[in-house]
Parts: sequence; structure tokens; C-alpha cells
Amino acid sequence: MLTKAPKGTKDLLPEEAYKWHYIENKFKDLCELYGYKEIRTPIFEHTELFQRGVGDTTDIVQKEMYSFQDHGNRDITLKPEGTSPVVRSVVEHKLFAGPQPNKFYYDTACFRYEKPQAGRLREFHQFGVETFGSNDMLADAEIIALAQDFLTKMGITDISLRINSVGCPVCRKEHRKALREFLEPKYDELCDTCKDRYNKNPMRILDCKSPVCQELVKGAPVMLDYLCDDCREAFEDLKKNLDSLGVTYEVDPGIVRGLDYYTKTAFEFVTDAIGAQGTVCGGGRYDHLVEEVGGPETPGVGFGLGKERLLLTMEACGAQIPEPSDADVFIAVMGEEAKGAGLKLMQDMRSEGIKVQMDVMGRNIKNQFKFANRIGAAKTIVIGADELARNSFAIKDMESGEQIEVPMEEIINSLK
Ligand code: ATP
Ligand code: MG
Repeated sequence: MLTKAPKGTKDLLPEEAYKWHYIENKFKDLCELYGYKEIRTPIFEHTELFQRGVGDTTDIVQKEMYSFQDHGNRDITLKPEGTSPVVRSVVEHKLFAGPQPNKFYYDTACFRYEKPQAGRLREFHQFGVETFGSNDMLADAEIIALAQDFLTKMGITDISLRINSVGCPVCRKEHRKALREFLEPKYDELCDTCKDRYNKNPMRILDCKSPVCQELVKGAPVMLDYLCDDCREAFEDLKKNLDSLGVTYEVDPGIVRGLDYYTKTAFEFVTDAIGAQGTVCGGGRYDHLVEEVGGPETPGVGFGLGKERLLLTMEACGAQIPEPSDADVFIAVMGEEAKGAGLKLMQDMRSEGIKVQMDVMGRNIKNQFKFANRIGAAKTIVIGADELARNSFAIKDMESGEQIEVPMEEIINSLK
């Protein structure tokens, strides 16, 4: 136990970390390009936030949350998703009062007690984006275009966008009625969780992971057939905007999403390249979540994009991530006096932004060169008694083997 990370968690080792830096930097740059600003919220929140926000008949709230009481008897939950905490923050800091829209992005760990498998962990990481304040389907289309743009920039080719409308509280009533009628003869066969959902929120049954329930809901009435005029118009608008943006999509009436807060727009980017857990990005509109959390009526739309699944998909698509070298320059030294000169030179070089290393293992000169090769240094500088006496050092190009002699005071300039 002591030497094994908890089930469903993973260490990020240096051999992988550079890939994470790469996607994180690219995501941040793209969000800023689209006019989004970063927001960071705590890793845990009051449990009630997720019960209210995500919905108490969802799998997340019923089965997957890491919840506990702290020493002050507060009910606390490690965030299972990123949107509700951002909404809480918007309400707490009255960000709805300023100029609209408010556009945020985040990069966060999430926690869900799920069955770990490829692309499914208990601690996982998400990029997310949220726009607040706009009822216009332009906001939805922009969010989708941003996700699409990012996935393309990451070298992902094998992915498709599916869109749907999950309606609003008005038209959902009709759909709910139809759904109950459809499921009534099958009620006894539903899993226990879904029996409860039948009364409270039958739409959640469509999202149940149990194979029996999945079979039972085949052919069930779909929300798209029950949209009110407002929701239908919005969906047509969304499609028009996506067409204008040149984003290709497929309408998939089966998308319901695992969180209760969605209204109207729901979408997923799905790939076949990484096995069963193929949803890389999912999102949609949530017009009543801000009110649910205690703020004024403020519409919102956003997405979450799983970093682990993104990296798996990039790998499957053969996307290249440039691997940084450990050092651009290595200083090889012979003798005590040379060590001192090497140290000083190393420090001067670092203050000029040159990536440089020196031996700290007491290696002989031959092994220092071997080490320089191993860490991928492009140049090696040799300092020994002769070099010190001449006050000029040899710079060796590790690839060509070519060597030039450079006066000490010109070393840094010649490297730059
Ligand atoms: P799924 O249907 O695969 O369970 P979800 O609908 O529960 O996904 P969301 O809540 O929409 O997922 O989260 C957004 C994204 O976060 C997903 O598209 C996925 O990339 C990622 N994600 C969700 N759960 C996990 C997990 N347990 N492990 C790794 N990534 C996850
Ligand atoms: Mg899930």
C-alpha cells in the first residue's frame, strides 16, 4: 500500500510532464486568443453545491463523489466537475453585475469514484471554458468552435462533433410525460437507481450505464421531438452559426449528458481512436444554474475537455509533441581550478537564459562527454588547466564534432 498510488490515480513523471506543459500552454494561448480569462477555484467545495448544481439524481452525485466531513463538521466534496464551482464563484463575487459576457477558462483536477480503465480515472484533469450572460446561440457556437480549433491544433484528426438540444424546463415536461409512458411497462426491469429516477427525473435513465437499462431505453422518445418553439429556434440558430463558422457536426438525439444543469445546447466530441471512453470533450448551455446556486437569472454555456483522453487521442492520431532537451550546453571540467571557472561560467550563462549543466557526480572527462550526449546537449565547453592559462575555451558541436576556440569573455555571446 505504502508504495502504490491509490487506485484510479497516476503520478505524472518528467517523461510525460513536458506533454502536459505543451497542451496546457496551447490551451491557455488559444483561450486568450478567443478572449477568455483564467479562473481558479478551490479543489473542494460544499457538498451541497454539487447536489444542487449537478443534480441529485445524477450518477456523479449518487455514486461518484469524494465527500467527507471536515473537522468543523462541514460537508465537503472534492470537485467532480468544473462548472458548478465557477458558477459559485461568479455568484459569490457578483461577477454577473459587470459588463457581459464574462468569459472564463480553467484547468483543474476532478475527482470521481468510477471504475478505473483506459481513459477513466478517479483523479483526472480537465480544461474548461464558460461564457456567462449571453442568450445568443453565437456564444454556444463560439465555444464549440474553440473546442474544435483546439483539437485540430493538437493534431487530432479522428474526431467528430455531435450536437443535440435537451430543451428547457417548459418542453421537458412533455418529454418527461412521454418518457414515463414509454417506460411504464418496463418499470420492474429498471435498476433500483432508475426506479427512483422514473419518478424524480426519468431523463436520467437515458444516461444510465447499466446494460439492462440501456437496452430498455432503446427507441425511447427523444427530446428533439418535444422542443418548444423557443428551443427549436435556438437549435436551428446554433446549426446556422456552426455552418457559418465552417464547423461540421452531426445531430445526435441520443446525447443527454451526465449533468442535470444543461438546457438547449448539448454537444460532445467523440473519437473511436481510444476505445470505449471516447468522449474527449462535452458541454452545453445551462440557463438556470446561476439561479440554482443563488444568483440572478444569468445564462451560461461551456465545456469540459479531459486532458488524459486528449493525450491518448493525440497519441492514437500520431500527433507530435516536441521534446525539450535537458540542456543546450554542457560544461566539461578537468581539475579543481577548472571547476570553479566552470561554476562561474554556468551561473553567468544561466542569467543570460542559456540552458546549461555541469557534472555534479565527479565523472572523469570521458564520462562527462558521454553524459553530455545523454542529456542531448548541442554544445560542450571544455575547461582544463591549458584553457585557463590561455583564457579561452573550446566549444565543441556535439553533432558535427567540430571545435572552435573562443576567448572567455566572448563565450556567452558566441553561444547566443
Ligand atoms: P463519460 O460519459 O465518458 O463518463 P462524462 O459525460 O461523465 O464522460 P463530463 O462530465 O462531461 O464527462 O466531463 C468532461 C470530460 O472530462 C469528458 O468528456 C472526459 O474527457 C473527461 N472525463 C470525465 N470523466 C472522466 C474520468 N473518470 N477519467 C478521465 N476523464 C474523464
Ligand atoms: Mg461520466
